[in-house]
Amino acid sequence: MIDEGVIKYESVWDRGKPLSEEVLGELMGWRDRLYTLGLIGAYENGIGFGNVSQRLGDGDEFVISGTQTGHLPHLEANQYTRVCEFDLGANRLRCCGPVKASSESLTHGAIYQRCPEVRAIFHVHQGQFWRRVLHRVPTTGAEVPYGTPQMAEEMFRLFEEEHLAQARILAMAGHEDGVISFGESLDEAGAVLLRWFEG
Ligand SMILES: [Zn+2]
Repeated sequence: MIDEGVIKYESVWDRGKPLSEEVLGELMGWRDRLYTLGLIGAYENGIGFGNVSQRLGDGDEFVISGTQTGHLPHLEANQYTRVCEFDLGANRLRCCGPVKASSESLTHGAIYQRCPEVRAIFHVHQGQFWRRVLHRVPTTGAEVPYGTPQMAEEMFRLFEEEHLAQARILAMAGHEDGVISFGESLDEAGAVLLRWFEG
């Protein structure tokens, strides 16, 4: 089932200024590259998919691409927003910036909270790629939908039981076409993803 684009959490949006391109430049470069590779984009029904994020500073705050931006070949700085706080258990977040955060922000937040060393996360969709890596990389259960507290718990299970911290990539059986990679830098998150994508 394609359930992209539906924001399933309670979110508070404080409208604010975009971050500078100096801060966002590297993230913007990776995002547009993933679009070129067909890993971020839109389905025929127009629903966009794929999002990228980067940790800001030493806390769990991060910047993420805005909701419903997947169809755009290039994103400007004002299409990214900060997730300033979030509560996984309560399924709640607050974002501050020119746009609302991606509907999958809490899935990113769960990884940042669990792994202080992680600084970048990419979430992509590609059917062939997804089928190829399903159950070859740590894979969330088919009954677990994206963007829910259960998804965060399911990812924590993969950290405990399937060496997710080492693999740095996971497939989501219950979120068709969905794959996530992460790393201590944007380049590492990208290298892990492309190694599997091209492999
Ligand atoms: Zn997705």
